[in-house]
Amino acid sequence: MKFKDNRSMKIVFVSHCLINCNNKFPGYADVPGAYNDFIIPILQAGIGIFQMPCPEVLGWGGIGRKRIEFDLDRNNLDQDWIKDYPKMCAKWAQWTADQYQDYVDNGYEVLGIIHTGDSPTCGLDYVDSFPQIHIDLLDSGINWDHLVLDELIPLLETPEEMRARGASGKGAFMSVLRDELIARGLEPVFLPYVPTKPMQDQVDMYMKALKISNS
Ligand code: SF4
Repeated sequence: MKFKDNRSMKIVFVSHCLINCNNKFPGYADVPGAYNDFIIPILQAGIGIFQMPCPEVLGWGGIGRKRIEFDLDRNNLDQDWIKDYPKMCAKWAQWTADQYQDYVDNGYEVLGIIHTGDSPTCGLDYVDSFPQIHIDLLDSGINWDHLVLDELIPLLETPEEMRARGASGKGAFMSVLRDELIARGLEPVFLPYVPTKPMQDQVDMYMKALKISNS
């Protein structure tokens, strides 16, 4: 090592919206900013946080997801922005894997990847895939002029519940990142955050995996 300073050499990768809930799909932000229950202990432990890119904002028309609102048409799914979304996610997964690899190559310990586990983009397995998830959402009676957290959250499922009813999609971004990291011989630890699971159980799981004392 050519330098000596105070950095911890420890990093955790985190889905963008878990640090910045303002990026969440309209109506689904259940905290004002970050999930402080686990973000603050990570910061206090001196672990660096790498905020991963948010493909949905990049590919679905920004914070307001205007392409989902105005352009998604079940009778016209042959649109470039729909077909290009998996490719865009794969490009950002490659970029993220490069950042992960860079830390590892420079002697850092990447302790884990905290990701949004029920998302069609940042989930891993047994999620509902884009664009069908949004067609199903509209079929359920969701109205773009009335996206209200208290009405949307009860409709969410855990990946286990999605699996039980036959969902078989893979997160367009996170599953590619997993494949890429494993192909490079790295051993990523994936730590899902699921809004419908008890927060304390998930915090305990993260603290244990990241070796942070929460006593
Ligand atoms: S789950 Fe991923 S893609 Fe969706 S809002 Fe969060 S960071 Fe963005």
